[in-house]
Amino acid sequence: MKVQFWGAAQTVTGSMHLIQFGEKRILLDCGLYQGKRKVAFEKNRNTPFDGNSIDAVILSHAHIDHSGNLPSLHASGFRGPIYATSATRDLAAFMLLDSAKIQVNDVKYVNKRRRRNNQELFVPLYGPEQAAATLRQFRTIEYDHMFSPMEGVNCRFHVAGHMLGASIVELNLTDPDSGETKRLVFSGDIGRSDMPILRDPKVVADADYVIMEATYGNRNHKEGSDVKKTLKEIAEETYADRGKLIIPAFSVGRTQEIVYRLNLLAEEGQLPPMKVYVDSPLAVNATDVFRSHVECFNDEMINAVLTEEDEDPLNFDNLHYIRKVEESKALNSSNEPCIIISASGMCEGGRVLHHLKNNIEKPSTRILFAGYQAPHTLGRILMDGSLDKVKIYGQQYEVKAKVAHLTGSSGHADQENLLAWAKETSAQGNVKHIALVHCEMDSATELKTKLEKLKLGPVMIPAPGDEMQM
Ligand SMILES: [Zn+2]
Ligand SMILES: [Zn+2]
Repeated sequence: MKVQFWGAAQTVTGSMHLIQFGEKRILLDCGLYQGKRKVAFEKNRNTPFDGNSIDAVILSHAHIDHSGNLPSLHASGFRGPIYATSATRDLAAFMLLDSAKIQVNDVKYVNKRRRRNNQELFVPLYGPEQAAATLRQFRTIEYDHMFSPMEGVNCRFHVAGHMLGASIVELNLTDPDSGETKRLVFSGDIGRSDMPILRDPKVVADADYVIMEATYGNRNHKEGSDVKKTLKEIAEETYADRGKLIIPAFSVGRTQEIVYRLNLLAEEGQLPPMKVYVDSPLAVNATDVFRSHVECFNDEMINAVLTEEDEDPLNFDNLHYIRKVEESKALNSSNEPCIIISASGMCEGGRVLHHLKNNIEKPSTRILFAGYQAPHTLGRILMDGSLDKVKIYGQQYEVKAKVAHLTGSSGHADQENLLAWAKETSAQGNVKHIALVHCEMDSATELKTKLEKLKLGPVMIPAPGDEMQM
């Protein structure tokens, strides 16, 4: 038995690990690689195996860097089951369709130029048909329930605390030759304790082999600013200036967390009387999915749902969810102070760009970043304050808006959390190998040293194609 690492190997995105087990092949995640356009284009198109050679997929969670290449796997012949929690499936439904739309539009844009130059036209990585066909292959299994995807394999999903439906995957594999059973634990993305809405991550003890993420393997989150307090202060300032507060946020996860906190402020009468808009069709759909997955809620969220005056913690009087483009555009002409939560989270596309374009040159505007901003993105440039002028849709705009950043709201475990998790996972001292994935090299190298110091190891940082024998 062995695991071969194909994605999120010495990089963060494109999670994809292949378990070979006798004649059978199980794929853990099938994510999109995200990075420089050209590299991503090549990588996502050329998976190192055919879809029809895979017997089953086990999906840790719906984030596109874990699920986004499933439709390509389908297109290359994969017809087997995709196992995931029901919350992951429900989020994946909207996220894969949204991703398909982006794939189609991206190519449309590039092809316009290629047509003019008489170049061969690109075809999209996949379209809505492949996304829909992929969704028919899902088989949902709830947390803590042992199931057998095939003979000799017993599998269980555990709460990961990273996003709605996210799982730590426990696999018990019985070697067809020796009859020996080995426990492989795949961390997926590990969240943190005390996150809003979600239950705390679980530890799966007694592992023999571990594949774990190390996104923040070299970093401890600073004692985060009080997110609720910061939101309140910035909302008050913006209201006093009669401006707009624009919050670029990922449609799934971060948006719901912010709405949840604004709801708490609104219930306590601490929010100025300004309207709050969630302007992203994907965020609106995802919020509906959140509401229906009570099994993923922590106690605070369950109690909030039970409160008679406020049975919906993702809604309050001044909050408006926007789907239609016309309603989104209408916000441009309004001079009322308001809060607009919109995607994409790193300002690389989506409706948030229109709001930035229309408001970035006004000193009364506040832009509040709520998550990680990758290098070279517009979000990162604005957050760093490195340029006085920025380009939006090919046009220059002066940055007169005030920019702020919400710290302490990461959905990933930090170094301390990762070390604690690894320690407990190998509680019985049986761990024969740990593979660090979903990380840049500097982060992985530091975590490897720390893990080995704790005598948890040996530890590997696999490159694409490397194997871990079991
Ligand atoms: Zn994730
Ligand atoms: Zn991830």
